[in-house]
Amino acid sequence: MPKVIIDPDVCKSCELCITACPKNIIDIDKKMINDKGYHPAIVIDQEKCIGCSACAIMCPDCAITVER
Ligand code: SF4
Ligand code: SF4
Repeated sequence: MPKVIIDPDVCKSCELCITACPKNIIDIDKKMINDKGYHPAIVIDQEKCIGCSACAIMCPDCAITVER
C-alpha cells in the first residue's frame, strides 16, 4: 500500500495538495500548528491512497513524500 508522508514543519497550508488529490484524502489539520504558524496538511485516509503522487508533484514546498 502506498504511504504518504507530509512534513508538518515544511507545510505552509496552501491547500494545493488537497485540490490535487483524486481521492480527496488530504485535509488541513486544524488542531495542529507548526513553527511558521500554519495548520499543516494531513492524510486523513491513508488506505484509500492510490500512490499517484499528484499531491507531491503539486506541493510547492516539497513537503510530501510518496512511498510505493
Ligand atoms: S498519492 Fe495520490 S491518492 Fe495518495 S494522497 Fe497523494 S494525491 Fe492523494
Ligand atoms: S501543497 Fe504542500 S505546502 Fe501546500 S498544503 Fe499541501 S503539503 Fe502543505
